[in-house]
Amino acid sequence: MNAADSQRVASSLERMGFRSAEKPGQADVIVLNTCVVRQSAEDRAHGYLTSLLLHKRNNPDLVINLMGCMVGVKGTDHLAKRYPHVDVFSPPSDPGPLIAHLSQDESRQLDQSEVEVRNALLDGDLVLPAEQQQSLVSAYVPIVLGCSHACTYCIIPYRRGVEISRPVGVIVQEVRRLVEQGVKEITLLGQIVDRYGKDISDGPNLAQLLKIVSDVEGLKRLRFLTSHPNWMTDELLAVVAENPVIMPHIEVPVQAGNDEVLANMKREYTNADYRALIARIREMIPNVSIGTDIIVGFPGETQAQFMDTYNLLEDLRLDVAHLARYSTRPGTVADRRMEDDVPDEEKWRRYRLLEDQQARIVGEINAKLLGETVSVLFEDQVKGRWRGRTENTKLVFVESELNLRGKVEDVQITWTGPWSMQGRTFDLVDY
Ligand code: SAH
Repeated sequence: MNAADSQRVASSLERMGFRSAEKPGQADVIVLNTCVVRQSAEDRAHGYLTSLLLHKRNNPDLVINLMGCMVGVKGTDHLAKRYPHVDVFSPPSDPGPLIAHLSQDESRQLDQSEVEVRNALLDGDLVLPAEQQQSLVSAYVPIVLGCSHACTYCIIPYRRGVEISRPVGVIVQEVRRLVEQGVKEITLLGQIVDRYGKDISDGPNLAQLLKIVSDVEGLKRLRFLTSHPNWMTDELLAVVAENPVIMPHIEVPVQAGNDEVLANMKREYTNADYRALIARIREMIPNVSIGTDIIVGFPGETQAQFMDTYNLLEDLRLDVAHLARYSTRPGTVADRRMEDDVPDEEKWRRYRLLEDQQARIVGEINAKLLGETVSVLFEDQVKGRWRGRTENTKLVFVESELNLRGKVEDVQITWTGPWSMQGRTFDLVDY
């Protein structure tokens, strides 16, 4: 979501006539877009912010914009006091305060006015920065902003505000504009993406929206995340199964395998519900891959309760598990009413157990692809090798003299590991 928000800022700056700088020391404007979902992310943001002080000293005209969840949708007084070198504060998803600040400075000659830049954002009229034109392969488009669910551990609803669906016309326009500028793959985003449209009386739901967006001329791949187990419908799964542009990958976090922990997290489903859902997804989309998120060491989680998570992952054999150690977030229900009582070493121990388990499981899943031919969309070159993803989002590296950027190619897998695979394209083999 932050990557998508940063793209909106970049688009606005590009319209005003700014161009990307290679290093912070060369920039006239620095935007620090922050995440506070865990303490570690927040610590990193504070670290960066402090390091920007040096640039401000070297260049007093530098405009520093602090954006995102560290700022949130409420007040910024405490941040303004702590970081006087910040010139502008912006809530998540909103480049508005930066656009206004830069437009008010009369010494600047801007290409477009504040109103033009704001209207372009409202209309979904995104422009990519010059260096990404006809070169960026994959982009994110938010479709649901904010979140109204309030899982007890999660700070996002407090910082991103209430759930709001973006109008279908704006979403389609944004996708069209990105595709015109060379983007091949779009991922639609929402904290609970399946709730898309619930706040709009006569608009499409997620399944219908996916169908509409998949028709955009030139779009090769369409994805969406993140799903909540309680909001996925058969209608959605059927669309994913039938539509060749929509990739067969579902991100549906379970967070924990124990019913009491799940209730304390206010996730509103059980271990059995989740198992049934995974079975249903696999039944309806036979070639599907599934990702989940897990939090270990939630307040009160016992060793036995943790083992319910371990056993769930062992049984379900999912393709991806994003693991996190519980981190208390200020203002959340868990922060106010529960004690963060699982020691740090124990959180690490549980984390490593799942990490090892998942490496084994995913390693076995990927090993079955050895010798198989899969379809890969190539994104960029890393150390001389082309990097791309399969329909199931698995990372594949290929050596090729050809320019594969933005191409979908058949690749024969020649090596597999848990986190990536290698393969060869047929053009090199056959002719
Ligand atoms: N709404 C999305 C994204 C939430 S943030 C979703 O439901 O997936 C991404 C992940 O961060 C969450 O799924 C959760 O696993 C993790 N997370 C959120 N709050 C956390 C906390 N306080 N401590 C540790 N991990 C957390």
